[in-house]
Amino acid sequence: MAPGDRRNDTPERKRKKMQKKYLMTPGPTPVPAEVLLTQAAPIIHHRTPDFSAAFKQAIEGLKYVFQTEGDVLLFASSGTGVMEAAIANSFYAGDTVIVCRNGKFGNRQKGIAEVYGLSVIDLKYEWTSVVDPADVAAALEENPGVRGVIVTQSETSSGVLNDVQAIGSIVREYPECVLIVDSITGIGAVECKTDEWGLDIVMTGSQKGLMLPPGLAACTVSEKAWRAYERSTLPKFYFDFMKYKKNIANDTTPFTPAVSLVLGLNVALGMIREEGLENTIARHSRLAEATRRGCEALGLKLFAPAEGRGSAVTPVWVPEGVDGKKIVSILKNKYGITIAGGQDDYAGRIFRVGHLGYFGEFDIITTLAGLEMTLAELGYAFERGSGIKAAEAVFMGE
Ligand SMILES: *Cc1c(COP(=O)(O)O)cnc(C)c1O
Repeated sequence: MAPGDRRNDTPERKRKKMQKKYLMTPGPTPVPAEVLLTQAAPIIHHRTPDFSAAFKQAIEGLKYVFQTEGDVLLFASSGTGVMEAAIANSFYAGDTVIVCRNGKFGNRQKGIAEVYGLSVIDLKYEWTSVVDPADVAAALEENPGVRGVIVTQSETSSGVLNDVQAIGSIVREYPECVLIVDSITGIGAVECKTDEWGLDIVMTGSQKGLMLPPGLAACTVSEKAWRAYERSTLPKFYFDFMKYKKNIANDTTPFTPAVSLVLGLNVALGMIREEGLENTIARHSRLAEATRRGCEALGLKLFAPAEGRGSAVTPVWVPEGVDGKKIVSILKNKYGITIAGGQDDYAGRIFRVGHLGYFGEFDIITTLAGLEMTLAELGYAFERGSGIKAAEAVFMGE
């Protein structure tokens, strides 16, 4: 069959071609058309006044979403690059750090710290638990000389929201200890007041709340974090913070930036500014609430505990007798809706609905409707329509 000749396509393949797709994951997230179109423009050279103006605007916009007056650095990498950079730029060989972990991304932080030869005090929790700030306070007290506390604000694997404000107020009392916060699915979805809460390095990635394709990562660097940098001896070249800081002074980057993504970032940040960050956060909290109430109305159990639920993603236990992997695959193949499954130990046991970034009410209604049809097909007993009804009630302020 010649390329483009579809005469022999099966009805199934034909149907799939016209199937509308919905990306309901907590990263990558949907990208607004305005952002996509900007990125489609012919590439401009990065050593030009045009790019410098765009870059300067991007850094200013990032300061707005990070709620900081301090430095913000921007890298061409996925989020994990900046997770590694935060560690490489903060510590002296063999330093002791506290890693708080209650999910897959906390585990990753521990792995990076170990690769860099740091001595790790491991504050490990169940994925269904919140990090207890009192444990951080106790660990700091019992271990004089700890140089860093590393925590994930919004644990994407579990939907748990850790209280980085409380942890910030504890770590602030230790002038030689930096607080490193993975807010990769926090920024733009939940409150994260970098300066006010005393957070030293806060990171995010483009394919999460920033409504961009993957490929950019950013972090804040406080005065305290710069002092830690001065003392740091861990190896770094591409991610050396000082190279970026020196270049930002001239509105540029040390290495070739992801030009198209930076241009797209300005459009996305402009949309957040227009909505107003407070309203952006409130929208996420409403979408999360509707998703939770919708799932509960279907008789499903939420994975994250009530005392610490974020607004980026809603993980839900797969009900007994239902094949969790089938929920994800039917939604995707039959209805064009991509949600996320569980990770690691929770693969097949939970599913995760993302509502991070460019999301509105009808994304939630669509996902819940698809979920209802999928659960019905899988023989799960519930009242059809009850999920979307509960979500509508949230949106109508009932
Ligand atoms: C997505 C994500 C990361 C980074 O992952 P990449 O795949 O490298 O972008 C880190 N932490 C959290 C909490 C995340 O959600």
